[in-house]
Amino acid sequence: AEHTPTDTTESSSLRTPIVAVLGHVDHGKTTLLDKIRGSAVTEGEAGAITQHIGSTAVPLSVIGEMAGDLVDPEDFDLPGLLFIDTPGHHSFSTLRSRGGALADIAIVVVDVTDGFQPQTEEALDILRRTQTPFIVAANKVDTIPGWNPTDDQPIQASKERQPDRVQSDLDERLYELIGQLSDEGFSADFYWRVQNFQNNIGVVPLSAMTGEGVPDLLTVLMGLSQRYLKEEMAVDVTGPGAGTVLEVTDERGFGTTIDAVVYDGTIRADDQLVVGGLEEPIVTEVRALLQPRPLAEIRTEKEFEKVDSVAAAAGVKIAAPDLDDAMAGAPVRVVRDRPVEEVIAEVEAELAEVEVQTAEEGIVVKADTLGSLEAISSTLEDEEIPIMRAEVGDVAPRDIRVAETANEPTHRAILAFGVDILEDTAALAEQEDVRLFENDVIYQLVEEYDDHVTAIEESQQEQILDNITRPARFRILDDHTFRQSDPAVVGVEILSGTIVRNSHVARFDGGEPERVGQLKGIQDEGDDVDEARAGERVAVSIDGPTVGRDIEEGDELWIELPEKHAKILEQELTEEIPADEREALSMYLDKRRNKDPFWGK
Ligand code: GDP
Repeated sequence: AEHTPTDTTESSSLRTPIVAVLGHVDHGKTTLLDKIRGSAVTEGEAGAITQHIGSTAVPLSVIGEMAGDLVDPEDFDLPGLLFIDTPGHHSFSTLRSRGGALADIAIVVVDVTDGFQPQTEEALDILRRTQTPFIVAANKVDTIPGWNPTDDQPIQASKERQPDRVQSDLDERLYELIGQLSDEGFSADFYWRVQNFQNNIGVVPLSAMTGEGVPDLLTVLMGLSQRYLKEEMAVDVTGPGAGTVLEVTDERGFGTTIDAVVYDGTIRADDQLVVGGLEEPIVTEVRALLQPRPLAEIRTEKEFEKVDSVAAAAGVKIAAPDLDDAMAGAPVRVVRDRPVEEVIAEVEAELAEVEVQTAEEGIVVKADTLGSLEAISSTLEDEEIPIMRAEVGDVAPRDIRVAETANEPTHRAILAFGVDILEDTAALAEQEDVRLFENDVIYQLVEEYDDHVTAIEESQQEQILDNITRPARFRILDDHTFRQSDPAVVGVEILSGTIVRNSHVARFDGGEPERVGQLKGIQDEGDDVDEARAGERVAVSIDGPTVGRDIEEGDELWIELPEKHAKILEQELTEEIPADEREALSMYLDKRRNKDPFWGK
């Protein structure tokens, strides 16, 4: 039998705020969500908490029960909170709505022992970019040595019961967190000291395991939403629905379905919809709106039950024809009483908003959802890495064909996030010298690519250095003329740099260097060698000059530097050459620039 959900949101004129949980892996996001759901189930009257598709609605009355003395439901008129069930910022960034993040508010979970980690910072970056208000859950307080847990209690009472040593241990860790938040540009404090949550981030110490501090977390979330989100929550929940695709899944008996979160208006079981697709917006008719069957009825055969309508905010599974090309992260819109073209244009405009800035030359990015594509692209943009093409979808041979057109070797790369590499693609990539990078953590993906670029640049520099004339200064030793000319053979000491066979030798006479000949051979204690380094004394043969006429014992000689090479060395490779060679270079440049200030610039 079809039935209408008993969702508290439906009759209210204020919609439920949507809450997302973010943070580093293993810091306790899932445990926290489970705790909130679990306590809600035990605390609440039967049926009070509603399991949605991809989310859990906790009504105000249940939050009141869970928060105990901390919350008086009389003070609130928001209907409750809708927690997105898939934690992590990957899903967070997937969850976008018109012009921003789908979540109205976020919880950043940080393990008090582990402190800030790369994904903590990544989460903060995303929240900063999307301007999403958030609070910090300083999790796992029960792991502090000597902690005596008091299950599900408000944190201040629980903290006061701890020995002094344990309390100051906790404070120390919390101050560390507050300091790190401040380094990231967020002013933060213990939540009970925060007066204005719009200017300060509240830090709530808690344990997702024992439940201590979870009442506080709910209280702060509720208070924050009530205070700062009330205006945004005043939407017409009976109007045409708007939502975001969470996931595209095959469902036995229903074909391809989409799991969506509705953040505005209502979707009805007889509505026409426009859904963002890989190629173009999909126009379709709802076949069924599905919700998970309540726990009490789990024994029935079917997993889902059909509902007549869902009102914001809610999660729902939508069965409809032609959803194969639907895209996670894309908009879903109800048409109802409007020309369909208008709605198609709306969906197109919203998709265009996420379109990434692409350049003629750059790398290829493939991601599983629009949101993740946007998040990666923004990270790449921050690092000034150009993108030639950015798309949602698996990596296919045609992506290799695009990547191989890049001119720069560093750009012949594909960054793949949360997608598959299709058959034959890896082999083609190897054949075409295109590098594939796969990772499900954005910063790691970009880091891997960065390392690759560094390796290429280093080998390029090595190659350049191998093909460039390098500066060296040496002096003819007194009483070391072994042969006067054809070629001249003299004993020398290398003062700085490295002399190499076959280079041209010059001498400064006034400003201009004067070429005296070519270094034909180097002998170190009778053995022929190709080069000699600073500090060494060797015999050299120089084709061209005559000792006593063109060069003298005691003369300072130089390896002659072509202007182009001098410029590359000074502008690009100073870091790569040894200090003594750098000294030879700067002396050489000084000498040349005495006459011509712009030489080598
Ligand atoms: P997620 O990767 O952020 O979702 O982290 P999980 O929720 O999977 O937690 C990672 C591990 O930390 C699991 O073994 C949890 O049992 C444990 N954990 C999470 N929260 C707490 C806590 O408050 N106290 C303790 N002692 N362990 C916790």
